[in-house]
Amino acid sequence: SIEIQDVHKSFGSLEVVKGVTMTVEKGEVVSVIGGSGSGKSTLLMCINGLEPINSGRILVDGTDVHARGTDLNKLRRKIGIVFQQWNAFPHLTVLENVMLAPRKVLGKSKAEAEAIAVEKLSHVGLAEKLNVYPSRLSGGQQQRMAIARALAMSPDYMLFDEVTSALDPQLVGEVLDTMRLLSAEGMTMICVTHEIAFAREVSNRVAFFHKGRIHEIGPPAQVIGNPQQPETVAFLKSVL
Ligand code: ATP
Ligand code: MG
Repeated sequence: SIEIQDVHKSFGSLEVVKGVTMTVEKGEVVSVIGGSGSGKSTLLMCINGLEPINSGRILVDGTDVHARGTDLNKLRRKIGIVFQQWNAFPHLTVLENVMLAPRKVLGKSKAEAEAIAVEKLSHVGLAEKLNVYPSRLSGGQQQRMAIARALAMSPDYMLFDEVTSALDPQLVGEVLDTMRLLSAEGMTMICVTHEIAFAREVSNRVAFFHKGRIHEIGPPAQVIGNPQQPETVAFLKSVL
């Protein structure tokens, strides 16, 4: 599980995460929604130790992410993260890009890394694109490559940060389909997203962030279908 316990995080004097508590159980899909600047991305960065926190604790399978002595590289191997855009290495093919981490980080042989990369790329629907260069992929294909790259590390958790928001509308669906597939397979996921319909359909719970706090959290039928807080209502109105 990922246990977030009363986490506070500031950039200088600006506190952007103000006491967030939330536990994501194995196999759960939690969507995080909320306005710009509410601290959603920052929280994801804190979960995999890309950002330090000021107080509180984050435990991943019981390991305190921010404790001295925690092996962050080991921890990050089990947490895949996909951002709005990922700059693939332009001089490497799609296959070679996805092979890189298993080779360099997991120390797999070339043949093993290739087998993993082929499997993951096929899984996200890119079996036909193994030998092309990333610049030849559509935006949606690039995002699916980024997902395959994260999956190539065999993560236990996947964090998604608005992975569809830079895409042309007609390309959003194929990336959401890939995320649906992962959730159906039981992947534990935290998805920061503006895709409210997707959040409603796929999530076990939805967390509405507002000004650095979880303002409302619960099943999608509540938070999206029947929000209890006026701020949630206003936010949903603004995005739907
Ligand atoms: P969006 O929906 O626009 O992506 P968000 O909810 O992901 O927003 P964050 O990116 O977490 O918001 O940012 C929260 C606040 O922290 C913002 O006010 C932002 O300007 C600030 N912030 C984020 N990263 C940094 C940083 N590295 N240094 C200073 N301030 C930062
Ligand atoms: Mg963000």
